[in-house]
Amino acid sequence: MPTAPRKILKTVFGFDQFRPHQEAIISAALSGRDVFAALPTGGGKSLCYQLPALLRDGLTVVVSPLIALMKDQVDAVRAAGVEAGCLNSAMETSERAEVHAALNRRTLKLLYIAPERLGVDGAYEKLADWGCCAVAIDEAHCISEWGHDFRPDYLQLSRIRREFPSIPLIALTATATKKVQEDIIGQLGLEKPHIVRAGFDRPEIFYRVEPKRDVLRRIAEFTLARKGRSGIVYRSTRADVEKTAVYLRDRGVDALPYHAGLPDEIRKGNQDEFKADRASVIVATVAFGMGIDKPDIRFVVHGDLPKSLEAYYQETGRAGRDGDDAEVLLLWSAGDTAKSRFHINKMEDPLERDKASDSLRKMMLFARTFACRRKVLLAHFDETHPGDCGGCDVCAGEVESVDATEDARKLLSAAARTEQRYGSHHLVDIVRGTLTDKIKERHHDRLPTFGIGTENTRKHWLGIAEDLEAGGFVYRDEERFKALVMTREGRDLLFGRTEFRTVRRANDKSESIHAGTLRFKSQSGDQELTAKDTALFEILRKLRFRLAAEIGKPPYVIFPDRTLRALAINRPETGSEMLECPGVGEKKLATWGDVFLAEIRAFAENKGD
Ligand code: ADP
Ligand code: ZN
Repeated sequence: MPTAPRKILKTVFGFDQFRPHQEAIISAALSGRDVFAALPTGGGKSLCYQLPALLRDGLTVVVSPLIALMKDQVDAVRAAGVEAGCLNSAMETSERAEVHAALNRRTLKLLYIAPERLGVDGAYEKLADWGCCAVAIDEAHCISEWGHDFRPDYLQLSRIRREFPSIPLIALTATATKKVQEDIIGQLGLEKPHIVRAGFDRPEIFYRVEPKRDVLRRIAEFTLARKGRSGIVYRSTRADVEKTAVYLRDRGVDALPYHAGLPDEIRKGNQDEFKADRASVIVATVAFGMGIDKPDIRFVVHGDLPKSLEAYYQETGRAGRDGDDAEVLLLWSAGDTAKSRFHINKMEDPLERDKASDSLRKMMLFARTFACRRKVLLAHFDETHPGDCGGCDVCAGEVESVDATEDARKLLSAAARTEQRYGSHHLVDIVRGTLTDKIKERHHDRLPTFGIGTENTRKHWLGIAEDLEAGGFVYRDEERFKALVMTREGRDLLFGRTEFRTVRRANDKSESIHAGTLRFKSQSGDQELTAKDTALFEILRKLRFRLAAEIGKPPYVIFPDRTLRALAINRPETGSEMLECPGVGEKKLATWGDVFLAEIRAFAENKGD
């Protein structure tokens, strides 16, 4: 590897080291080869085409479907001193004319373009005039019908190879099964590409799954314990998005809603507030996740069960893209599963139905697992993880399994003795011996199971019913008043042929103790912040927020959290000391060095050291 890329990595981007695979991708690209790269979210794909662009004479064109992010991407590279522009249909005609002028003058190094813009204004034809010498295709899975995000516009991209056979192509994606990979390579006409498939583990993410009870209260408690940190809360319906956002705001969390039913300008406005750190939490439906992109998201909460592990991986993957520790929480209930199942059963296409139901089952198994969550998740992507990761609730000992066979049999027996015609609430009334009108009317107080479980709370029994359903021992008959019906496993359990274990949280309160600080050490190897460092960190964050507001850009365009933390710990006194901190390049030092150094100096003087 020539020294040039390493040097640029430091001077322009301010990073000391390449992330895994970046260096190999960059050197293959610079040697003029085609590249296919599947890297997980946060793996640092952008750098793989941005850095070579700086070392080439001419323009690198980046095709991306994420119009909402283009301006930010351009802002971010411009902040590092790179001439860049973008073209998409959301821009004003006059804005696009300016970019075209710059392209004709050949002053740009990087052009971000939406696929549909390549087909208009003669863009394909002009690529040569603009001095295009490389093309990067981001979100390349969009070209494949096997990908989860197929876009017909992407099929046109095959023109690039046909019309400009000598321009090297680099295709990047965060979701590639082997099938999608082959499709991408074939569709784009990549020639003997250098192929990189990175591991999909996200060591910076702490995975946690909890039974969903009192969902709004739990979400509020979780977000309040992380006040001021950026987070996404996913809900599956628009109504729940609205309800959750209002509930959180009422309790002092600066949360905003985001879903397709909101007027464009409000939705866009809310997203901008979130990006600019003026709102720390966005409550959103999953349909709009693609538009939410922020490197410093510290947590993602799923208030409802995602429809597949792929979706869950994508959505949780939006946390911790900057490589700093992040937490994800999945709140899960059997009721959700039943709801999804109900919708799945109504699907017409039997293939689609089977696929959806299989996805749901795998999602459920993940939620219910007693094994390392990381191991289970990665296994789904054909990756073997040894387990014992230290970064999930199971490995961290927050979760234990307990034998609940006796209780399960009591509840199943109540169901069996009432001909499996009643829902969980009525069954719980029976075992708890509650004399409701319905019980009296149906003489269920005469059953031998009546009152055999008075020693446990109603909540406990409803939990057992949910766990039974999640484990596939019973199902809820949506057509017959949600009656609990035993499956074969359920009958085996009732008649003593199998056992039943359920998950218990080791200590429900354990994690609120860690309010405000992240509670596990990921492999990022970062130093711990002392109380004093934290004080300075917060001051620098406020400074960054002010500066960002002045220039009208999101804070992370100035420096990522990681840089602020390094500044807080190392407290540089000079520009060259500041350059030692990750994320500080020469351009950023020239722009922001003085203000940050002054703030650090003032802090040191105030504290008398
Ligand atoms: P992806 O597109 O793969 O999800 P990005 O390109 O957005 O990821 O990069 C994620 C984050 O990682 C960005 O904040 C980026 O600045 C940072 N990053 C990229 N490469 C490096 C590196 N070599 N060292 C430190 N940070 C990096
Ligand atoms: Zn684990």
